Amino acid sequence: MRDKLLRIFQETYDELHPRTPMPELTVEFFAFVNINNTIRMREGKLLVRLSDLLEGAPDPVLRAIAHILLAKMYRKPIERPHATRYRRYISGRDIAKKAHLVRQMRGRKRIEGAQGLTCNLESIFDDLNTRFFHGLLARPQMTWSRDHARNRLGHYDPAHNAIVVSRAFDHPRVPFYAVEYIVYHEMLHLKHPVKLRGSRRCVHSAEFQTEEKLFPHWEKAKQFLKRL
Ligand SMILES: [Zn+2]
Repeated sequence: MRDKLLRIFQETYDELHPRTPMPELTVEFFAFVNINNTIRMREGKLLVRLSDLLEGAPDPVLRAIAHILLAKMYRKPIERPHATRYRRYISGRDIAKKAHLVRQMRGRKRIEGAQGLTCNLESIFDDLNTRFFHGLLARPQMTWSRDHARNRLGHYDPAHNAIVVSRAFDHPRVPFYAVEYIVYHEMLHLKHPVKLRGSRRCVHSAEFQTEEKLFPHWEKAKQFLKRL
């Protein structure tokens, strides 16, 4: 496959640039989220990345891609038959379907996992569920965030049915009750979905706030988190 591609690029290059030797060329297939093909010049070498969805495309299509990329690179006009052939191929039913699937898979949010350095968010959820919710809440995905941002302690992500806790709190200096409190707060969001009061969204209703104070270290946790 690679040899064939190199040959196709070489022949296309010769058509566009007769009598000039082609720079060294690397072609690789790449798992882009979308069908995407790129070409760039780096330190005098050409680097081409083709969407792995095009692996196995018929020769005329590969020729069309080579033409489009090299024409772009060297600012030559793209010949219409090549442009049409490529467009037809990627909008064909099989490729469109594959692309859609791949987009769903690769575009999906990465879930980092419940196990942190200091504690496991699933165990915290299960324990709080028994102590405060009669075990009635269905456990969503529990995960530490990927980054260490502190502006959001935690949040419930309905699109992925996940409670995400900022990784900034996965640290031995953070008291256990503070992490418990963050999880408890998000569990209350599961229990009290956002209500519309008139036109105002009421995120932390009076009931929510009353129940929040039932957490034994509520005051201490709030103060600790405020100081950060
Ligand atoms: Zn909240």
